Amino acid sequence: MSDIDCGGCEKPFMLGLRAMQHDALEGVARDLPVQTVMNRLCLQAERLAAGAICSILSVDAMGRLHHLASPSLPEDYSAAIDGLEIGPAVGSCGTAAYLGKSIEVTDIANDPLWTEFKGLALPLGLRACWSTPIRASDGRVIGAFAFYYHSCRGPSAPDRTIVEACVNLCAIALEQEERKARIHRLAYFDALTGAPNRASFERQARAMLSAAVRDNSVLAIHWINLDNFKSVNDTLGHQAGDAALRIVTQRLSSALRANEFFARLGGDEFVVLQCPAKRDEDIEDLARRLAAAASEPIVFGSGSSASTSARIGVARAPRDGVTLAELMKKADLALYETKRNGRRSFSFFDEEIEARFAARWLLEKDLEQALARNEFELHFQPIVDLAKTELAGFEALLRWRRPGHGLLTPPHFLEAAEKAGLIGEIGAFVLEEACKLGASLPKPLRIAVNLSPTQLLEPSFALQVAKAVLKNSFSPRRLELEITESALLLENGATLACLSDLRRLGASIALDDFGTGFSALSHLRVFPVDRIKIDRSFVQEVDRDNKSAAVVRAIIGLARELGLKTTAEGIETHSQLRMLQSLGCDEIQGYLVSRPKPLQVFRLTERSAAGAFPALSA
Ligand code: C2E
Ligand code: MG
Ligand code: MG
Repeated sequence: MSDIDCGGCEKPFMLGLRAMQHDALEGVARDLPVQTVMNRLCLQAERLAAGAICSILSVDAMGRLHHLASPSLPEDYSAAIDGLEIGPAVGSCGTAAYLGKSIEVTDIANDPLWTEFKGLALPLGLRACWSTPIRASDGRVIGAFAFYYHSCRGPSAPDRTIVEACVNLCAIALEQEERKARIHRLAYFDALTGAPNRASFERQARAMLSAAVRDNSVLAIHWINLDNFKSVNDTLGHQAGDAALRIVTQRLSSALRANEFFARLGGDEFVVLQCPAKRDEDIEDLARRLAAAASEPIVFGSGSSASTSARIGVARAPRDGVTLAELMKKADLALYETKRNGRRSFSFFDEEIEARFAARWLLEKDLEQALARNEFELHFQPIVDLAKTELAGFEALLRWRRPGHGLLTPPHFLEAAEKAGLIGEIGAFVLEEACKLGASLPKPLRIAVNLSPTQLLEPSFALQVAKAVLKNSFSPRRLELEITESALLLENGATLACLSDLRRLGASIALDDFGTGFSALSHLRVFPVDRIKIDRSFVQEVDRDNKSAAVVRAIIGLARELGLKTTAEGIETHSQLRMLQSLGCDEIQGYLVSRPKPLQVFRLTERSAAGAFPALSA
């Protein structure tokens, strides 16, 4: 501290100075709000410096001034300065902060630095202003400390001593404030996107929830998941994934209005709180805004691009719950519902969703036990050769005798089995059972077995088939394996290898539900297939709708060109049958011949198998 000249009053002055320092440091140590500490500092400095009016401003990273404390200046004056950008001629403080040096203006009325601002100061009787920059320990200017005077004058020697002490104290307090802000940012904001994080969300949600309950208003939670973010990460790399998250975060937050709070929960999960959500239409409106914001194409600096879309689940308080945990669970169920229903971008939670979820959960639990409890069985549907009008074989169709639910067909449980990871074991049962029963059939009747896409990805699947036929002494030449196009979409290489192995073994491959997928023709070129099964949806209309007839004719023609056999599925009427006969289809299958039934119902002998099918001649 510099030497002081205060006209023989050193002792009380020094005591006052020390008290001021002590008070400010104690305030910082006690973590009092920085405005409180700064206000007290101003008042004590004014008491020590006769005739001075004190002001403290902070400078943000963008170079803007912010009012911190000036207890003896009118609020209007502080408000007018707040937000000003620092510069080479912005009064005393704006200039001191800009140039990083102390600025002494002894005559505001005539100093060019004050040209634009003297209109604010002069009416208050402020004639002079001396401002000193406040520097952080790394040298950055983080504020400005000013003494105003009512006369045209410069600072006295004691003033300089006081300001020197004050500027140091301000630096300590402001740096402490910066540290607190950094810790707060780390604790409550996501490092990647800068958005509020889960902790922030929970804090905000609890506050908004109790306010909603108190005010009898509705709070909506929108839980958002990005649809194909994983593929962006996988195909374009993690850097692109990070950039995509930042872009989407920016877009989602700019879609918000007042009373809507946004946070990133982690990964590609985001959440928006909306309160008050007066009408359901307002909630739908926000969900649509969010979905639209997330679905804009993302273009990266590298020139590559990606597209994502938002899936949203909405829960409403108090209707769906009044605790955060309950609401999140329900928003999650609604989100699951949105994902399940391919086309929608959002769903509101309702009791039906909960009931469906509970039913699915029970279904999975029951499925896990079904194999061990021998609840699966196979039914068989005859396949008839049209040229010979005789039985060509059977398609094995899985049935589940679920306790309390009767006999279930695959559409009721196959997807759940797939999700629960049970399809491998169930498929193995079907294969084993089909080979066992197939071996009991008169030759050359074949058995067709349906495969799930995931079975073909099993590296040892061809071996499993080989073992099943060998164990049951069933000729693999009488085994046909039916796959759908979705199987061909997965991992091309592995599927292709598996199909080739199966054909080498002697089994034939049929492409099931042909025409319902979307890239059928290219599949026929790439994958080894022996037969096309024309989907029931074309067959149903074949005798009534020219377009369906044209599709069926084209499929049969194409198959013939490629040397493949055709089977039409789902023949129910004689008229359909006649049409397929005239189009030259090789085989048919359908309720007209028989519904799928247990094999023993057909009571086959060599002779009956070779005989004409009565339904076909009707
Ligand atoms: P898919 O392979 O196309 O089997 C034909 C389905 O059409 C069977 O339904 C059959 O009962 C039904 N169907 C046959 N003829 C007619 C008809 O004239 N009219 C009508 N309306 N329907 C007819 P199901 O048994 O419910 O099987 C549905 C699907 O489940 C099958 O379609 C197949 O993709 C799958 N699936 C069946 N069994 C298995 C299996 O063991 N493993 C696997 N992975 N999938 C299976
Ligand atoms: Mg089939
Ligand atoms: Mg089919």
